[in-house]
Order: sequence, then structure tokens, then C-alpha cells
Amino acid sequence: MTNHLPEPSKPSNPSVSSTQRPNRRTFLITAASAAGVAGLAVWRPSLAAAAGGPANVTIIQFSDAGKPTGKVTIPKVVRSDAEWKQKLAPVSFDVARKEGTERPYTGSTWNNHDRGFYRCICCDNAVFSSDTKFESGTGWPSFWQPIAKENIVEIRDMSLGMERTAVSCRECDAHLGHVFDDGPRPTGLRYCMNSAAMRFVKTA
Ligand SMILES: [Zn+2]
Repeated sequence: MTNHLPEPSKPSNPSVSSTQRPNRRTFLITAASAAGVAGLAVWRPSLAAAAGGPANVTIIQFSDAGKPTGKVTIPKVVRSDAEWKQKLAPVSFDVARKEGTERPYTGSTWNNHDRGFYRCICCDNAVFSSDTKFESGTGWPSFWQPIAKENIVEIRDMSLGMERTAVSCRECDAHLGHVFDDGPRPTGLRYCMNSAAMRFVKTA
């Protein structure tokens, strides 16, 4: 027999980096304190504070095959409007960075029935899966659950004289759409998303 040694019985850790990050983060905080914060390219407390969020976010990463590859804590993606404009199509900029809504039946994925999943158009964070997509009849891609609750943020939205719950990307704050409580089972939720805020990744 040429079997190699048995695996250590330690439960599998979904992410090596998540165990390394705290050390690195501790180091950065220490370094930032020592250096008076200024000038650190990786640790950007001033930019994060300006965006109203923490500098780091914890999300579930997914491979392009649509499989979760573990929980990671990474720096939040923060860019200026000018930078987003360069990266995004105009409709995607309006929706994702300016809380816009695409016109129904105009997006690329409201009627998409392929198997796959959806990444944030801005930062590639995985946000929804075809496994939970359903026909809402609204003209917007609709899902009864996000691909991972860690990957999105839900915030009460009182704009347009309505009380709604806005859904955004945890990693970069992109506005994705809204969630309503008139969806199908098993959750009863309807995540009404914008095609322009997401990029579809087809899987086998
Ligand atoms: Zn994003």
C-alpha cells in the first residue's frame, strides 16, 4: 500500500486566509497607529469612513462553477464615481451607484432561464443563483433568496414616498434592487433585482 498519511482530523477550514487575516489586520492596525494612519494604501480608514462602512467585509466567495469556496474577510471595494463611470455601462452606473431602477423588460436577465449565478457588476461578489430564480411577471430578475446572506445588505429605504427594503452588495455597496414580502415559498420573499447591476455566470 502506498497510501499517504491520513489527513489531520481537524475540521476543514473553509478559508486559509480567514485565519491569517486577523494577524495581518492586527499588524496593520498596530502599524497604522504607529505611523499615524496616513499613507497606508491597503488599510484605508478615511475612505471607508467616507463611505459609511467598515474597511473590511466578510463574504462567502464562489468559484466560477458556482460553488462556495469559503468565508473570507477582505477590504471593502471603494471607488470614486469617476472610477465607476469608467468601469460600468451608463445604465449599470445609474442603477448600481445611484440607486436607479432599469425599465422593466429591458434588462438582459429578467427572462434568463440558464443555470448559473449572478455576480455584482461592480466587484464580482456572488449575489444570486438561478436555483432560486422564479417567474415574477415583473420584468425584473426575481429570486426568493440571495446566494449567501453574508454577501448582501438590506436597508430600509423611504425614497419615492414608499417604505421599501433596498438590497445592496456587501463588498462594494452597489445598489442591486429591493426585497418584498410577496414572493413564493419557501421564503415568501421576492428579491426584485436589476439586470444592469449584475453579471450572469453560466454554469454546467
Ligand atoms: Zn459589489
